[in-house]
Amino acid sequence: MTHVFHRQLRHPLPEAVSARGLTITDRDGKTYLDASGGAAVSCLGHGHPEVLAAMREQMDSLDYAHTSFFTTRVAETLADTLIASAPKGMSQVYLVSGGSEAMEAALKMARQYFVEIGQPQRRHFIARRQSYHGNTLGALAVGGNAWRRAQFAPLLMDVTHVAPCYAYRDQRPDETPEAYGQRLVSELEAEILRLGGDTVIGICAEPVVGATLGAVPPVPGYFKGVRALCDRYGILLIADEVMCGMGRTGSLHAIDQEGIVPDLMAIAKGLGGGYQPIGAVLVQGRIYEAFTQGSGQFMHGHTYLGHPVACAAALAVQRVLQRDGLVEASRVQGAALAQRLQAAFGHHPHVGDLRGRGLFQGVEFVQHKEDKRPFAPGAKVHARVRDEALARGLMVYAMGGTIDGQQGDHVLLAPPFTVQDADLDNIVMRLADAVDAAITGAGR
Ligand code: PMP
Repeated sequence: MTHVFHRQLRHPLPEAVSARGLTITDRDGKTYLDASGGAAVSCLGHGHPEVLAAMREQMDSLDYAHTSFFTTRVAETLADTLIASAPKGMSQVYLVSGGSEAMEAALKMARQYFVEIGQPQRRHFIARRQSYHGNTLGALAVGGNAWRRAQFAPLLMDVTHVAPCYAYRDQRPDETPEAYGQRLVSELEAEILRLGGDTVIGICAEPVVGATLGAVPPVPGYFKGVRALCDRYGILLIADEVMCGMGRTGSLHAIDQEGIVPDLMAIAKGLGGGYQPIGAVLVQGRIYEAFTQGSGQFMHGHTYLGHPVACAAALAVQRVLQRDGLVEASRVQGAALAQRLQAAFGHHPHVGDLRGRGLFQGVEFVQHKEDKRPFAPGAKVHARVRDEALARGLMVYAMGGTIDGQQGDHVLLAPPFTVQDADLDNIVMRLADAVDAAITGAGR
């Protein structure tokens, strides 16, 4: 009998006892190759000695100091490091304990910014269907993933959701990627105008969609168009880089590849690489200044903001990442992974799409490749793939999104940036076995 409960209540989980590099070992001695970095968290792998040493050192000198009373050297140094490589104009960092907290803080910061500058009539957020921004109520409200939201809908603030940029499903055969992106931007503008341009606070988007769709990058020009709309109507662009950020897509920030700069950016997962719970909001200087010149306080806060041990872990992770050229490794090994996935699944009758950037690669399963019809939701193909992979000692992040009211099945691969070619071979070989077993098991 276990007294801890997680998401799944009917299936007992294996008990993890140790982890090193890309491998987690359970109590029975079975090993698992971490091809998903947990949930795109582990960027350095497990048990990196420098990160562990930095955490120990921090614990020995200062374990905790509440931010109502103190700042700390380690928080300041981490913020300096993040700002040195941040998109242009970003000057401040708000340190929290995870991705949902980062998005909650970004939403409230965006709203308070408009109160500070005398535009309190701004009260709407626009976000995108098929997006995930966290499980707390504010983040869940901006999230557009139907099954995660459904039963909580009566509790959620009113947010409108526009189409995601999802070329595999939505780009028309007669459209170029650019024209498709432009069509989405026009739809977004129509929604802004419907709400009233001066009533909108912000637009939330994951630059590369993660948890709901499995690594879907935008088409060229899409984010430039979104940025232009934000500028035209004075709306803030909130980039959720919790999953796709911190090197995951082969550049430090995923939005860097779109050639635009957001107003607020949420980061988490790869920031601390799983060593400690930590997230952050990176903030444009002019937004911060509105607070300093206005009320002088951000009406928000949590007990563990800027926790010294979490900051020490994140600082060590980011130093190793930079020193060892691991963002570049994510780009190069990501291309190597994409190539292997293409070789294994490019002609697979039940693989509709392969996509991604860097070490953030998604596989979408379909019943029919030709008409892209998804499997019936009840077949739970994504869950079967995950379970078959786990049985083969492989961790993949599986999810069923909703496509036109139907379930779609995806898996996400997001191994640590230290992944070697032999590991990639191993990952793709085990995944191919798992996919065949899962789809045969689903009765195809
Ligand atoms: N935003 C995105 C894009 C995410 O992928 C996630 C987590 N999967 C979150 C927010 C929430 O982060 P957390 O689970 O750390 O609260």
